[in-house]
Amino acid sequence: GGTIRFENVDFAYEPERPILKNVSFEAPAGKTVAIVGPSGAGKSTISRLMFRFYDVGAGRITVDGQDIREVTQSSLREAVGMVPQDTVLFNDTIRYNIRYGRWDATDAEVEEAASLAQIDGFIRDLPRGYDTEVGERGLKLSGGEKQRVAIARTILKGPPILILDEATSALDSATEKEIQDALERVSRGRTTLVIAHRLSTIVAADDILVLEAGRIVERGRHAELLAAG
Ligand code: ADP
Ligand code: ADP
Repeated sequence: GGTIRFENVDFAYEPERPILKNVSFEAPAGKTVAIVGPSGAGKSTISRLMFRFYDVGAGRITVDGQDIREVTQSSLREAVGMVPQDTVLFNDTIRYNIRYGRWDATDAEVEEAASLAQIDGFIRDLPRGYDTEVGERGLKLSGGEKQRVAIARTILKGPPILILDEATSALDSATEKEIQDALERVSRGRTTLVIAHRLSTIVAADDILVLEAGRIVERGRHAELLAAG
């Protein structure tokens, strides 16, 4: 499961200032769909609508055919996971941060998620007491390390739908590549919406939508869009 459909979605934060205009697309179960476009085009708005921070003005959003307005907030939150641009971590251990939202997870499950996100050595190898604390008094994590913690958290949660909102844009390019690889592993088998402002940051999307001023102006595969310029 996990097919997302936007059907003729209109949205405005304020009356008289439309942000999304008749947006329709499908992200089939297990596939990766990327949304690219300039800053202000409405890309993040799409992810906010997926979480029902706001409701559509017209049209509808469905998951497996069901209007998301008819789904409880808690099951929507279970179904949809997100790796944001800048991960904010709690001033607590890395384990706590990974387990956040999945308090029933065993240590073994936490470690498996950490391993998939490639921070397992990081958790295990540091000295005790100092080992996994995040925040002012503890360990300073780099942007890439924070993203790995966020990725591990998402792996542990295991949602069928994943939203990656500019998830690598705050990183330097070497780190970006590593995190992209990790994100590709996480997105495998999940319906994934990748939001980015540059086509070049999108690796393996099945379908790419170009959003400009709230409208989908183009769609296609990577090579086709690069060829079209
Ligand atoms: P993108 O992610 O493509 O950069 P956004 O979806 O964040 O674009 O924003 C689209 C437009 O909506 C922008 O013009 C932005 O200023 C406006 N916008 C975003 N959030 C709000 C808000 N909470 N209230 C009013 N306008 C907003
Ligand atoms: P990002 O570009 O990192 O996704 P945001 O989604 O927070 O950042 O904001 C996107 C754009 O929407 C920015 O230009 C921001 O200034 C604008 N914006 C955010 N919140 C509001 C708001 N409440 N009212 C008007 N514009 C907003």
